[in-house]
Amino acid sequence: VSLTPGVARTDVPVQNHLMWIDGAPVEAVKGEWRDSIDPFTGQAWARVADGSVEDVDRAVASSRAALESGPWSQMNGRDRRELMLDLARLLRRDADELAELEARDNGKLFKESVRITELSAGWYEYFAGWADKLQGDTLPVDDTSMLVYTRREPVGVVAALTAWNSPMILAAYKLGPGLAAGCTFVVKPSEEASLNTLAFARLVTEAGFPPGVVNVVTGDGLNVGQPLVSHPGIDKVAFTGSAFTGSRIAQAAGARLTPVMLELGGKSPQIVFDDADLETAARGIAAGIFSSAGQACVAGSRLFAHRAIADELGQRILAEASQVAMGDPLAETTAMGPLAFRRHLDNVLGFIDRSRDEGASVLTGGVRATRADLADGYFVEPTVIGNVTAANEVMREEVFGPVLAVTSFEDEAEVLKAANDSQYGLAAGLWTRDLKRAHRVAHSIQSGTVWVNAYRIVNHAVPFGGWKNSGYGVENGAESLREFTKSKVVWIETD
Ligand code: NAD
Repeated sequence: VSLTPGVARTDVPVQNHLMWIDGAPVEAVKGEWRDSIDPFTGQAWARVADGSVEDVDRAVASSRAALESGPWSQMNGRDRRELMLDLARLLRRDADELAELEARDNGKLFKESVRITELSAGWYEYFAGWADKLQGDTLPVDDTSMLVYTRREPVGVVAALTAWNSPMILAAYKLGPGLAAGCTFVVKPSEEASLNTLAFARLVTEAGFPPGVVNVVTGDGLNVGQPLVSHPGIDKVAFTGSAFTGSRIAQAAGARLTPVMLELGGKSPQIVFDDADLETAARGIAAGIFSSAGQACVAGSRLFAHRAIADELGQRILAEASQVAMGDPLAETTAMGPLAFRRHLDNVLGFIDRSRDEGASVLTGGVRATRADLADGYFVEPTVIGNVTAANEVMREEVFGPVLAVTSFEDEAEVLKAANDSQYGLAAGLWTRDLKRAHRVAHSIQSGTVWVNAYRIVNHAVPFGGWKNSGYGVENGAESLREFTKSKVVWIETD
């Protein structure tokens, strides 16, 4: 495929996309297929192999063989580093193609997806640098005749399951440190957005990784995800998705004592104090909830504005919301695309309707977009909801759409209590010019990440992980290498 903005989508024939197992494209064992619906047109535009437990068995066997007896098992850190650097080069080379697949699969903006694909390449480059630096220690013990040292060995075959909102970077969070450590992977992308992960797997093979180091099985959670996380051949599960599924996965993996790391949802607060630069804050808050149509785990979906500036900030945010250019995800001028699939559109509209029932006021948006050119797509207008209470569903549950709930506060203690009154603890934004307050509040917020006068920045070198129901385990940064290695102690009597 190659679609440039303006080319009629109907000119491109529906194509079949195969799974990637043992370094080659394969059909599902049962020969079944699933349509991928373009959320801008509402039409099927591609078909993806729809897997089952048989495909999982095949992929796990291939990844285990690669871990234990293939050429990968003989490679040193320097070999792995070179392969990862080659992979990063291919990702940059094909960023446009991968981004186009994603834009049609889940409606992410093409330009945003190009940026994220290039960002993902940076992940492989960063972790490539770690591949030959995973060292152990020698440990002094009482008996001086003993030589005691540790080794860091790969954790093994990892099942990596990703959400549909950003498959490329969510895979990089896992495969970057995992490949550096020498693990092998069975990746299961979401059934709502599988195509760029399949194209990525082809690049893994082109880069020269031996067969089986990265397999991709496609299909849904029940028929592929569940058997994968319960599979006896899996040594670790690395999951990104909802808290609901995360809990089911932890239970299934727990039955076999398989370790799990979970990156789950959020209900992240944005706190604006009365000394903040309101122009920057309004822009940051709008971008933090309307970018990707709110389909980001770190979406800043609860706004707490100090009473003294609440009106002015509210006006600025409403102005920002009215200027968000909705449109074709492939078009350069678009700032917000559709929601990824029909069921999700209904979910998001359901949250908004129930907030009305609970007595909240929809200040702007709150409906499916009615503009003629958007009518076939799954667009929800940028939505701001006021007059909410802490008990309202829209303040407590993750909507995963362009929906901001707004409330105000009087003092620091009050807002800290309110912001921390959440089952989630993924991220938070603070907006203030007071340095002491910035540190004080950042230290008291219950979340894995706090941004001050900025929002939604990630970097390969910086650990990322949730508190509370936002998950456990750490992705990114040197810390994440611990997730993909296990230490072994060797005692040697030398006397
Ligand atoms: P989801 O939980 O529905 O699905 C995630 C993955 O799990 C998919 O691949 C799905 O097929 C699979 N799955 C579903 N049921 C399963 C089961 N019983 N066993 C095994 N696998 C199963 O999540 P989603 O709707 O795809 O993604 C949205 C969610 O992901 C949001 O909650 C969002 O906050 C979260 N997310 C978190 C982060 C983070 O880093 N914390 C990043 C992106 C998205």
